[in-house]
Amino acid sequence: MQAILKRSSLAVIRWFDSWAGTTNDKGSAAAETLTASVAKARTIDWGRVAPFVGLHLSCLFVFKVGFSWVALTTAITLYVVRMFAITAGYHRYFAHRAYRTSRVGQFLMAALGASAAQRGPLWWAAHHRHHHMHSDEPEDIHSPKQQGVFWSHIGWVLDRSNFRSRIELIKDFAKFPELRFLDRFDILVPVLLGVSVFLFGVALETWAPGLGTNGWQMLVWGFVVSTIFLYHGTFTVNSLAHLVGKRRFATKDTSRNNLFIALITLGEGWHNNHHHYQASARQGFYWWEIDVSYYILRTLSVFGIVWDLRPVPKRAMGLRRLDQKSA
Ligand SMILES: [Zn+2]
Ligand SMILES: [Zn+2]
Repeated sequence: MQAILKRSSLAVIRWFDSWAGTTNDKGSAAAETLTASVAKARTIDWGRVAPFVGLHLSCLFVFKVGFSWVALTTAITLYVVRMFAITAGYHRYFAHRAYRTSRVGQFLMAALGASAAQRGPLWWAAHHRHHHMHSDEPEDIHSPKQQGVFWSHIGWVLDRSNFRSRIELIKDFAKFPELRFLDRFDILVPVLLGVSVFLFGVALETWAPGLGTNGWQMLVWGFVVSTIFLYHGTFTVNSLAHLVGKRRFATKDTSRNNLFIALITLGEGWHNNHHHYQASARQGFYWWEIDVSYYILRTLSVFGIVWDLRPVPKRAMGLRRLDQKSA
């Protein structure tokens, strides 16, 4: 009984302090080995993930709060902005170091990424590095080949053994205290965004009643619905992009190139390209492979906000080709 109480209270504390009871703040020496965390894998921590489940259920409030064009526009805008922060920030910058930016730029990207409620930048990028180290092998934490579609899409996020930030895989960024803060208190930015969206709705109801919105409607559409689409848009890269699409390069994994996923994730659907050459800032390797995140990064580089965007070396383009004779 005492053990259950202790576990439940830790789960609730972790809603607010995601490093509570982990070895994240004690350096790599004390960190659990990856093998150990894999050994006890695939146990869903329901107490800890209750807010995640609750957020999904809250989508049903759309029937209660009604619809307005301004609420839908806010939802789409917040989807696009936050998807950019996940793909260009969490993924291409923090996981792969595909370009450079200032410390302020790095922090802003991390904070914007955190607003997507997909945990902190260190957690996200470390788990993704782990995926590249073991793609579609038994150790892979989200492989549809190993654990099935459901697990690769969403199960792994709920898994007790994937809760810790795996700091040992992201030491290069874990040295920044501001990133450690965002990672540890990963609920902070999403809550701030939720409150801001609500207040925006209240302000519109007061000063622009003709738009037909209010605080609750804006919260449900602008934050809840937008965030849920953002989850499943991002998750398709781990599930569907290893199942559906074409393979240009003979990578050791099952990664595929998929236009639909590239469109909903602003460029991440060129996943076979990405597994073939992970370090580049672009994932669409040809002009016809739409990669919106890369276009935005190119634009930001014109203004000196980001720089040293890593290209795909010519040699890599010719290696292990399945669609033509290898160079
Ligand atoms: Zn992958
Ligand atoms: Zn990657």
